[in-house]
Amino acid sequence: MDANEFREAAHAAIEHIIGYCQSLSDRPALPDSSIHPGYLRPLLPDSAPQEPEKWDAIQPDIASKIVPGLTHWQSPSFMAFFPANSSYPGMLGELYSAAFSAPAFSWIASPAITELETVMMDWVGQALGMPECFLSSGGGGGVIQGSASEAVVIALVTARERILRQRAGEPPGGMDPRTDEDWAAEEAREDKLGDIRSKLVALGSECAHSATAKAARIAGTRYRSVPVSRNNDFAMTGADLKAALEHTKSAGLVPYYLTVSLGTTSTCAVDRFEEIAEVLKDWPEIWVHVDAAYAGSAMICPELRYHLKGVEHFDSFDFNMHKWLLTNFDASIMFIKNPQQVTASLSITPPFLRNKWSDASLVTDYRDWQIPLGRRFRSIKIWIVLRTYGIAGLQAHIHKGIRLGEQFDGWLRERSDLFEIVTAANFGLVVFTVKPRDPKGATDQEAANTVTEAVYEAINASGELFLTSTKLGDVYAIRVVNGNELGSEKHMRKAFDLVVKISEQERTNGDV
Ligand code: PLP
Repeated sequence: MDANEFREAAHAAIEHIIGYCQSLSDRPALPDSSIHPGYLRPLLPDSAPQEPEKWDAIQPDIASKIVPGLTHWQSPSFMAFFPANSSYPGMLGELYSAAFSAPAFSWIASPAITELETVMMDWVGQALGMPECFLSSGGGGGVIQGSASEAVVIALVTARERILRQRAGEPPGGMDPRTDEDWAAEEAREDKLGDIRSKLVALGSECAHSATAKAARIAGTRYRSVPVSRNNDFAMTGADLKAALEHTKSAGLVPYYLTVSLGTTSTCAVDRFEEIAEVLKDWPEIWVHVDAAYAGSAMICPELRYHLKGVEHFDSFDFNMHKWLLTNFDASIMFIKNPQQVTASLSITPPFLRNKWSDASLVTDYRDWQIPLGRRFRSIKIWIVLRTYGIAGLQAHIHKGIRLGEQFDGWLRERSDLFEIVTAANFGLVVFTVKPRDPKGATDQEAANTVTEAVYEAINASGELFLTSTKLGDVYAIRVVNGNELGSEKHMRKAFDLVVKISEQERTNGDV
């Protein structure tokens, strides 16, 4: 494809993309019911074409074969999981990122890519009101990860390496044993590390995202979840954590890492940071990571920043700008109070990665702050998004999502004959159950679970709305959240009317 062909193809593609975006208001979130597992393979040739094809043969296939199989996350009737915002400014950023494509792992691999990221992390940190200790001016620093799960892995592996160094000392210089004595010394140290590692335990509340259990598995350590209570709105309290820590200690285990949540996936619970920090004064070896994957975006609104109280006591913080701040996937923003601890754990420099700027410690090499070596140019879309919307535009977007949740919550309460709120609107997320009409001998909870699950399945089967459900202890509940740019009161009301209609039908059909 030469420049002229690209110009023509790009114009056609942009028109197609705009047409798709403009159709979203009326598109259901889920694909057409004719889409079934394995639908695509029969529509495509068995192998890649031997001869080149023209764009005017490729583009129609995107429209006819791919678009029908998409789940439309930007549709205003997408109220499942959490949002994953896309925007025109974000798309422009992605376009430039593709044009300047470079696996910019170190400063010299493309200085502008590194330097824009460093500046953007401070812009975003300031916009969220992050304590200074997480900004470069306070000795901290930010880095863009691909996902909140990757950030947990980075924090957890750093925590593991830190406690291993603290308890077993620094590795002896020269990691290539040559003599028998070297081998013996190295093996003795490895055995000691193995003994310590076998006792390490990572913790998170039982409502923390499964990313923490997965990260502990990747890091080869144990994981324990801390029980939480509905009486505390599923937030982890200082007392919950203290009990779990004492339990692990009496079992001879060594807690070394904790995830605290600012907005859990099921209900958007915020753990009690200040109480937790108080308890952790007695446990200085524990690295605390704040998982704010979704709700972190809301900190752009000053009136919500009370949720950050106590965060300055913790070690790292991550939120997905690609969830709720109009920035296309992926842009997971990780702030670290002491980045040297991350680089001390992750940095390995083979000769081919050395250069005079890195050797002189004049630059940031983000390869040492993440899992892969190569990395995408993500900060350019953040720059474009921040400038196009301004902080005020992004605040307005968050306010709208919160308002839509509160409206839905209010309507549910008006129908208290039909619905029970499990957790009130929180960062735009409402969690509720359907009340059974006549439990017929079943326990109330079983009957409520049965009808709620039936309603949930019927809503998604209708194709008009896409929601997700969750389990909180023995309670089966439905989650509704709308953080889309196209979301509006009209769409919320339509969704509520559908939920009412299906709930009334299911109560009658199931005779519960
Ligand atoms: N943490 C929380 C609280 C989440 O809600 C999610 C996903 O929604 C994650 C972590 C995982 O996010 P990611 O897909 O960025 O790894």
